[in-house]
Amino acid sequence: MSPYPHATPTLTPLPQRILLVENSRTFTTMLREAIEQRLELPVSVATTLAEAGELLDREDGWFLVLTGLVLADGDRDQVVEYFVGRGLSTIVVSGVYDEDLRKRVLQQDIIDYVLKNTPGSLDYLVWLVQRLERNRRIAALVVDDSPSARGYAASLLGLYGYQAIQAGDGPSALQALEANPAIRLVVVDQEMPGMDGVELTRRLRTLRARDKVAVIGISGNSDPSLIPRFLKNGANDFLRKPFSREEFFCRISQNVDQLELIGTLQDLATRDFLTGLPNRRNFLEQATHRLEGHAPGDGRLAVAMLDIDHFKHINDSHGHEAGDQALRAVAAVLHAHTRPRDISARFGGEEFCLLLNGLDEDACAAHLEQLRAAIAALEVVLGEHTLRMTVSIGACHLQAGGNTLHELLGEADRQLYLAKAGGRNRVHIAATP
Ligand code: GH3
Ligand code: MG
Ligand code: MG
Ligand code: MG
Repeated sequence: MSPYPHATPTLTPLPQRILLVENSRTFTTMLREAIEQRLELPVSVATTLAEAGELLDREDGWFLVLTGLVLADGDRDQVVEYFVGRGLSTIVVSGVYDEDLRKRVLQQDIIDYVLKNTPGSLDYLVWLVQRLERNRRIAALVVDDSPSARGYAASLLGLYGYQAIQAGDGPSALQALEANPAIRLVVVDQEMPGMDGVELTRRLRTLRARDKVAVIGISGNSDPSLIPRFLKNGANDFLRKPFSREEFFCRISQNVDQLELIGTLQDLATRDFLTGLPNRRNFLEQATHRLEGHAPGDGRLAVAMLDIDHFKHINDSHGHEAGDQALRAVAAVLHAHTRPRDISARFGGEEFCLLLNGLDEDACAAHLEQLRAAIAALEVVLGEHTLRMTVSIGACHLQAGGNTLHELLGEADRQLYLAKAGGRNRVHIAATP
């Protein structure tokens, strides 16, 4: 999928390296391949603590350690202490199940204790690594009046990689949510003085819909009406106190997974798969909406159609795959020239459309001319060949080209035809009568 429509801007790149420490070669090889291929994260392998130490010292940017418990130069607690002591996020992957050992290991600050020889353990580990990798871009808000309960939940969220934020009451939780769009998860205690958890959930829903932020209610109260009240007021889930660490993580993850899944499904419906730009239907919906909200008589709204010149020739001489690459490159330039108040979309085939907002005729002409020149300057490298392209653009302003979206698109298309007929690689804009 294209990286740009959803890319979360981060100032410094997040660490990506994963260290696998194991003395059994077969399992490590499988796990390494699965992580590298499915998640595209770099994996290094060590068989002893000494080797692991060397790797850790030699390179920077370690994100996670997955380790067995029995190594030639260390055993159980020693192994765990070694990695946790270096401040590394650690998952224990063990060949033996031992309830005592599990309890002891989970008392330390490790993320999880996973049995490696069960069916599905490989898939579980790949899922877990991906979950932890993504959690780092998600902020989670804990709302609880008890500092110790709040601190505990926040430290668990931190352990799983989330950016944990704390609030001691309902009003400050609502403030935090308004201030921070990265918050995708809210854990809400029921019993709080002033605004209780159910009431907070109800108000929170007026700010963020349930497909954008997951809310999980928590309470030690055994009142049977509490869970339905939470859920009916907009909570996604409920957790009873006291909860175990594993239960907490499973519930939280399930809800975050679901949010992501909904996002993916929405993307499939509204984005063009090849370029990641909004698709035609999405453009028509959004543009219609913009036109409705637009003051009549204001011509600072324009629609443009852009078509790649002689595109069929690219497919014919370099292949369809090269054509796809060219389409992605043009889409990326188009996206880079899209200001926050504009809309750019792939209309179909090698045609794109734009809605430009707030530019007068001269500014609009200059903007489209810049876009045309940027695409003409683009070099798409295909092995030994370098591909260059030009585009023709037709555009019109509100009134000059009509008043409905349908009329505007029709006029922009006529102007596009004139640009093609005039020799291609040019911008044609309908003159205002
Ligand atoms: P003109 O300058 O007049 O626009 O000529 P053209 O060759 O660009 O226009 P034409 O409409 O004849 O050809 C468009 C081509 O775009 C034909 C079609 O196979 C190709 N095309 C449409 N969608 C895709 C796609 O998703 N990938 C690739 N590789 N090609 C596509
Ligand atoms: Mg409380
Ligand atoms: Mg065409
Ligand atoms: Mg074309």
